[in-house]
Formats: sequence, structure tokens, C-alpha cells
Amino acid sequence: MSSSYDVIVIGGGASGLMAAGRAAERGRRVVLLEKNSTLGKKLAISGGGRCNICHAEDDIHRLLGHYGPANKFLYSSFSQFGLAETFSFFSNRGLPLQVETRNRVFPVSQKATDVVTTLERFLASGNVEVRTRATVQGFVREGERITGVMIDGAVMTAASYILATGGASHPETGSTGDGFTWLKDIGCQVKDPTPAVVPIAVADEWVHRLSGLAIDQAKLVFLVDGQKSLKLAGRVLCTHFGLSGPLILNSSAKIAELLQEGEVTIQMDVFPSLDLGMLDKRVTAIFDDNKNRDVKNVLKVVAPTGMSAAVLLLLPSIDPDKKVHSISKLERKMIVNLLKALPMTVTGLMGMDRAVIVDGGLSLDEIDGKTFRSRKYDNLFVTGDVLHINRPSGGFSLQLCWTSGWVAGSNA
Ligand SMILES: Cc1cc2nc3c(=O)[nH]c(=O)nc-3n(C[C@H](O)[C@H](O)[C@H](O)COP(=O)(O)OP(=O)(O)OC[C@H]3O[C@@H](n4cnc5c(N)ncnc54)[C@H](O)[C@@H]3O)c2cc1C
Repeated sequence: MSSSYDVIVIGGGASGLMAAGRAAERGRRVVLLEKNSTLGKKLAISGGGRCNICHAEDDIHRLLGHYGPANKFLYSSFSQFGLAETFSFFSNRGLPLQVETRNRVFPVSQKATDVVTTLERFLASGNVEVRTRATVQGFVREGERITGVMIDGAVMTAASYILATGGASHPETGSTGDGFTWLKDIGCQVKDPTPAVVPIAVADEWVHRLSGLAIDQAKLVFLVDGQKSLKLAGRVLCTHFGLSGPLILNSSAKIAELLQEGEVTIQMDVFPSLDLGMLDKRVTAIFDDNKNRDVKNVLKVVAPTGMSAAVLLLLPSIDPDKKVHSISKLERKMIVNLLKALPMTVTGLMGMDRAVIVDGGLSLDEIDGKTFRSRKYDNLFVTGDVLHINRPSGGFSLQLCWTSGWVAGSNA
């Protein structure tokens, strides 16, 4: 092991791997310090194990529009390493990518672990020294320069340092917010992290029981103290604690605001393309065709897949074993009304262990957007989730990691 390097990269996640490989490609002597026993733990579970590696939007302005107020800050770096560069970087290294629904891009192999392997090969080709089970404890500084990192009670030194310790979501992957603490310790401005892009918890047993069920076309009306406040439409995933899926994840900030205002309830319409009258006609026709069958079986035809159990749970007065011909008009109306407004009560957002990213990190005022160099410490570079940049799910986070990692590695 060498004691002095050109570049020390702290954190072997998406952005750290890219940064280390890029710095080594330029001939720098690089060491990568990762506290886990393996690299890219969060990357390996990204996109449900398939890795939504970037977002296929060719127009840089439209792409940057997804990064909210950070869009101007990111223009220079995305011009250096943007969508086209991400595609060629991975496909030139034997990992072709494909565009799927909603412009999400995945490896053709559908394996997030292949992304990790590709980056590991990138490190190996540049002779990056990889040290796993290496937990950094903080920076050593003199004036406006970082002079080392504390590790195992010793100081390791380099000319430049790339901080890529990630955020604080899914801490079991190693992202425990260490970088935020160290930056604060050396006088940098850091917003404390709160969960973002996060599922919601609901109190309702019927939702919990449908865990794993995806409802492809739902309309959700959110009410605060009974007043309509927010409408969402799209695909919703039921979980054992509440609701998830991109629609919910990407609206979690708005839902958090509603929770500040009062009690939040939801009415979920699982037939958004039919009005009450049309749905009633449809249900009546199904009932007419199935008069002598049990209610519990015919409801499976009436309700979207998996939802009949919820209807029976929410309408306990209807005997599931009686024949459809003995369903009263009132009972039929109750079923139709329920399918147009399934009730839920939101109890809160889930926590860090379920969040995709956090809202928090180093203020962009303290970073030069052309290089990702700290404005306070000119031999310190900061990448990926350590930066305070909010964005939705859909490949935007990893694109930010490739871009910031490559640009920091090009300048360190
Ligand atoms: C479940 C889930 C799914 C996701 N899916 C997608 C997706 O499909 N597409 C997308 O764009 N984004 C996705 N994201 C977000 C994306 O994965 C992150 O934005 C990205 O991985 C952040 O990379 P990073 O390099 O900033 O940090 P991380 O990947 O968090 O890596 C930081 C690394 O630093 C190490 N580290 C921390 N502290 C220390 C220390 N003291 N010493 C040494 N090492 C340390 C950690 O162990 C970790 O390996 C997902 C996130 C989650 C949680």
C-alpha cells in the first residue's frame, strides 16, 4: 500500500467509482476507500435490481428541468458528460443500454450488478488501488486545504480528495451521511437530510393486505381535513405499509406539505376512465350475466385484479357467499361508489430506510459547477448524493452521479 496518492476517493458508490476510474484514466495515482466489503452496494439494488441508469431526454434544457433550481448549476457539467456520454461510456465497455417506458434507460442485460462490474473493470484498467472495509473517520485540514483523511487512527494523504460518501437513504447500503458531518465539521454549509422520493404510510388494513399489487390506472384525490387538495393519476403500488411506485415517490414532497396542513385522506378511483353511471352500467351487465354465481367470484370480474378482496373487506355487510341475483340495487351502488373512491388515511411518509434519496446535502453555493471543486477547499471535490440537488426518480440520480463523478475525476 502506498502512503501518498494524487487522488483519494472516499466512497465506492456510483459517483465514486466513476470519479476514481476517470482520474486514473488521466494517469493519476488513485486510491478508493470504501467501508463496505464490496463496491456499489446501493447501485446493485437500484431500479429494483435492474438499474435505471439514466433518463433518455436528448434536449439538455428539458433534461435539466428535472433538477429544479439546480438546473443552471448543472449546465456546464452536463455539457461535458451528459446523456450521450453515458450511453457511449457503458456501451463502449460492453454494457449496451436500452430505452424503456417513460424514457427510463436500463442495461440490456437488466442487471444492476453488471453496471457495478463494468465500473470495477474501469477501475482495474486504470490501476486504481481499491481498499474495501476501509472506514474513513474525517478530514484533516490546514487553512483552506485538505491535508489528509483519518483512517484507522492514521492519516492518509493525497494532492486531491473526492468526497463520494452518498446521502443517508437506505443506510444499510453504507450511505450513513458521514460526508455531511465531515463537511459541517470543516465549516461548509450543509442542509440536514430528510427523506425524499419516499413511499407513504397509510393506516388502512385493506391496502396492507394487497401488498405487492400494482394498480396500473388509478386516480388519487388527496383531501386535507376533507377538502380536495391534490390529484394524481397513474400507476400505484400497494405495500405492507402503504403506497409506493414512481407516482407516489415523485409526489412525496407535495404530500409532506399536505401533512403539515391537517389530516390527509385519499380517495382512490380504480376506474378513472368511466364515470359513476358508466361504471354502474358495466357492473350491472356483469351481474346480469352471472346471476347464479357467488358474489365473491363475480367481484373478481368486476374489480381490477386483486381488488375484489378489498371490496369485500370494506363492505362487510355484503355476504361474499350469497348469489349475485340477491344483491340489492343499494348494494350494487355501494360497490360502484367504492371502486370510484376507495378510502385511505395517510399517516406519514416512510423514513430513511425506504427513501430513494434525501433532501439535503452540501449547498451548491459552495461548489464550482464546472469542476465540482469546493469553493472553500480547492483540493476537495464533492459528487453524487452528497450534493444538495433534489430530483425525481427515473434515472436522474444516477445521471447526476455519472456526470459529477466524471467531471470531478477530470479535474482532481
Ligand atoms: C432502493 C433504491 C433504488 C434506486 N434506484 C435508482 C435508479 O434506478 N436510478 C437512479 O437514477 N437512482 C436510483 N437510486 C438513487 C441512486 O442509487 C443514488 O442516487 C446513487 O447510488 C448515489 O450514488 P453516490 O455515489 O452518491 O453514493 P452511494 O451509492 O450512496 O455510495 C456511497 C458509498 O460511500 C461509502 N461510504 C460512506 N461513508 C463512508 C466512510 N465513512 N468511509 C468509507 N466509505 C464510506 C458507502 O458505503 C457507499 O458505498 C436508488 C436509490 C435507492 C435507495
